Amino acid sequence: MRKPIIGGNWKMNRGTPNESREMLESLIPLLEEIYNVDIVIAAPFTVLTNAYEILKNTNIKLGAQNMYFEDKGAYTGEISPKFLKEIGVEYVILGHSERRDIFKESDALINKKLKKALSVNLNPIVCIGEHLEEREAGKTKEVIKYQINETFKDLTKEEMLKIVIAYEPIWAIGTGITATPEQAEEIHIFIREKLRNKFEMETADLIRIQYGGSIKPSNAEDLFNKKNIDGGLVGGASLQADSLFQIIKAANNSFK
Ligand code: PEP
Repeated sequence: MRKPIIGGNWKMNRGTPNESREMLESLIPLLEEIYNVDIVIAAPFTVLTNAYEILKNTNIKLGAQNMYFEDKGAYTGEISPKFLKEIGVEYVILGHSERRDIFKESDALINKKLKKALSVNLNPIVCIGEHLEEREAGKTKEVIKYQINETFKDLTKEEMLKIVIAYEPIWAIGTGITATPEQAEEIHIFIREKLRNKFEMETADLIRIQYGGSIKPSNAEDLFNKKNIDGGLVGGASLQADSLFQIIKAANNSFK
């Protein structure tokens, strides 16, 4: 049994204390009856401390959207995983396609960050996914296989169990175009098969694989009802309490 997990990725939005407080204070009371989903809000660095104070006695965990792979030092503009841990952050998104594409993060860099996050007990949410041209050229599985091999290089089974994988087809992120539940499930099954080859069946079957890419209240239920889709990473729809709540409710109902 894998408990679904919903991550709200606020990106570079809701970055002032007032706007994040307003959103979280609207969300918290909606979630009182939600028991079957892990919930993470990945907020901008500027509001993590405030968000921690608001979330500390709730069922919402705090996440960051990035980190560096060193504890401290002369790395102007970077954020230490230890700083994150010390202010109450529990999850960190790594390898989001916006980091890969805009900031040129490689699989090797993401692998370094991943090992570092695990070493300080941050739970990584690791994103993988193909570009539209790659899908159209029939290369989706090749790309995913490469990303799995490189991003999860030299990790142990125990470490893999702490990781959440987010399959995010890049053509679906922020575009309003969602992968159909069948398209998403096909790749989730493929990811799990690769994990089985690499880490054995027992481990692979426990790793949670989220879908991400234009999840909305209207498509969440059909996606989460697929056997290998263990919740979602949500961008745009995580900015409003009500839409995020509807998505969380769909994940909650999918856990049987
Ligand atoms: C994301 O940023 O991870 C994402 C899935 O965004 P959206 O839901 O807006 O497509």
